[in-house]
Parts: sequence; C-alpha cells; structure tokens
Amino acid sequence: MEDAIGKSPFDFVAPQSIELVKKNIGTGYQLPYEAYAQKQDGEIFPVLIKAQYNIINNKLTRITSLIDLTELKNKEYLVVKKSNELKKSISIMSKYVIYSKTDLKGIITEASDAFCEISQYSRDELIGKPHNIIRHPDMPKSAFKDMWKTIKSGKTWSGEVKNRKKDGSHYWVVADISPEFNEEGNIFSYVAIRHDITDKKKVEEISITDGLTALFNRRHFDTIFPQQVALAKRKKELLAFVLMDIDNFKQYNDIYGHQEGDSVLKLVAQSLRNTLKRPDDYIFRLGGEEFGLIYHTKDVAEALLIANQARQNIESLKIGHTGNSASRFMTISSGLYIIKQDDTASIDEIYKKADEALYVSKQKGKNQVSYKV
Ligand code: GH3
Ligand code: MG
Ligand code: MG
Repeated sequence: MEDAIGKSPFDFVAPQSIELVKKNIGTGYQLPYEAYAQKQDGEIFPVLIKAQYNIINNKLTRITSLIDLTELKNKEYLVVKKSNELKKSISIMSKYVIYSKTDLKGIITEASDAFCEISQYSRDELIGKPHNIIRHPDMPKSAFKDMWKTIKSGKTWSGEVKNRKKDGSHYWVVADISPEFNEEGNIFSYVAIRHDITDKKKVEEISITDGLTALFNRRHFDTIFPQQVALAKRKKELLAFVLMDIDNFKQYNDIYGHQEGDSVLKLVAQSLRNTLKRPDDYIFRLGGEEFGLIYHTKDVAEALLIANQARQNIESLKIGHTGNSASRFMTISSGLYIIKQDDTASIDEIYKKADEALYVSKQKGKNQVSYKV
C-alpha cells in the first residue's frame, strides 16, 4: 500500500479497463462498477471500483476504492460452470430418457424430448393432456388399477407397458413410476421414467406367435396354461379349456391344395379371434390344424355356449368343403374341460381329458362340442 502513495490511479488500472475508468471519472460516475486492476508484477485481477465523495476542509474530495473481486469471480465462475453442466445433463437426459411428469389427476405437466420422439407427439400436444393419451387398448385395465394403487400409496410401480403412438402403432417400455412429495410429505406429482424395450418385445412376440395364423403358439401355451390354471384356482374361478380340431382337413388339402388349406387355417384363426374377445381370453394354434382356447367362465352352460359359438362361427364362414363328412362347409370339432378350484388333475391330465372329449365329438359325427366332466 505504501508503494501506492503518490501514484496516479491509472497506474493500478489494467490496460483493458483504462478507457472505462477514464469515461466514468469524466462523467462523474458514482455507482460502483466492475473493471480490471493490475498488480505491480503485471498480474491482472477483477475489481469493483467505488467512488466516495467527502467534504474535507470545506473541499469536495473524491476517494476511490478498489475491491478485489478475484475470489467472488472464481465462485461465480464455478456457479456458472456448474449451472451449465447441469443444463447440459438435463438436455442429455431429455434427449435420451423417456420421462414425463403428471399432476395428481394424471395430467401431463412435463415431457422429455425422448418421450415426444417415441410417442410422436409434440411437447405442446402432450402437456395439459391426460396421460391415457398414450394408453394402448391391449393393456389390461387391471395393470393401470394396480399402478395407481401403488403410486397413490407412496410407492414406486415398475412394469412393462405397451403404449400407443400418435399414428396408432405401438412401442413397449419398462416404466418406473414414482410419487414426488412436498415438504409436508404429501404427494404432489408423479414421475415416470421409462426405457424402450420394443425390440426385445418383438423378439419375444415372434417366439410366442404362430407364423401362419399370428395366434399364440404351442410354446406360449405351455407357459400360459399352467399359469392360468393356478391363477383361476387361487381366485376360485372356473377356467374353460377347449381343444379344437378341423374336420377332415387332410381331405381338404387333397381336394383344394395345401395353399388353400393354409388360407383356411388363417380364416379359422380370425373367426376364433372374433369370437373370443375378452382381454383374458387366450387362443392358440397348438399344432397343424388344432387350436386351443382358454377362457374364464361362470358355469358349464356358459362355457359350452362359448365353445359352440366358436364352432358355429366357423361353420358360418361357409368355406366349401366337399370332402367333409359333417357338413357342406368347413367345420371343427371340440372337446371342453372345465378346471375347478379343487381340481387335482395335472396339466397333462387336463389336456388328455379335453382330448378325450374331442375324440368323442369326432366319434359322434364331428362338428360338435363334447364336455368332459
Ligand atoms: P379329422 O376330422 O379326424 O380331424 O380328420 P383330419 O383329416 O382333419 O385329421 P388328420 O389328423 O388325419 O389330418 C390333419 C391334416 O392337417 C394333415 C395335414 O395335411 C393337415 N395340416 C396340418 N398342418 C397343416 C398346415 O400347416 N397347413 C395345411 N394346409 N395343412 C396342414
Ligand atoms: Mg388333427
Ligand atoms: Mg382334423
């Protein structure tokens, strides 16, 4: 400081700030302002220049003080750097994470870029809309019921979800949906983070789908059937299992050709899809011209009604089949077995019983349903 006495203030001003300081003194500038000062060794550092006016010995005197801002600027720099890093992370997250937020009623309040991209909706189209804008009709209502129950109770729900894109196509995600709490501990929003598993699902779907009819295949039947039997028993519900086999199909191939036979298999599959439409109905192509149905039922009469509807709807396709001993048209024979809650039959035994019932239908003249007690 001693060294400073007798020196011009401009000796302390760094070259890049000289014009600024001159101008401010010239205009009688009084508000503090930032500039750069220079140390004796030439080191330049940021300062705040404050001018203070005092009356000393009846004379107006100006005292200029310089406040070293180095430390403050370093902190500011760190804050700006951190904030930029954060902005960058958020923008990366928005680009790659399928993320959305909803209010308590399920109205979308935030949507990431990745969410917009996969859903094909713009952010404007999503924000303010109910989340079910992306709901796919294939998703069972029970899944959403379970999800809302979980998140409303303050827990995180995780699961695989099939969502609908704007153009009606679909994508699959694994979603983690969690509630967000305010300081009082109350839930104020729900956050969903998902990742795209569409490709994995496609491979899975192919492995459980019959290539010709697009029904579930035998492999999937082997997975689903024991699960459904166990579930029905637990819920104390009756489960119907129907084995179906096309009548005189070998003859059909012989008369109309294998290609035509394949077309018929597709038509039969479509007819079964039109007949069994409940979300927990299952239809399988179990073998060449054999199909399997699994559906929940309240009693034997209803189960028989559904099996007969399926049979009737196939005959109603009126596919000409001169080689069929049972009808002028393509028909199918069925065997029905109903699994009860105290049923002790194994999966193989259940299958055998339905097959025996099918055999009875064939023996009795085909194009009919037989029920095995
Ligand atoms: P039944 O009324 O007793 O069932 O007589 P059926 O001729 O239908 O029975 P069978 O089991 O003797 O013959 C089934 C025939 O189904 C044999 C085969 O030619 C035909 N088939 C099996 N898979 C396919 C397929 O993928 N495409 C076509 N076109 N025919 C198939
Ligand atoms: Mg057969
Ligand atoms: Mg057959």
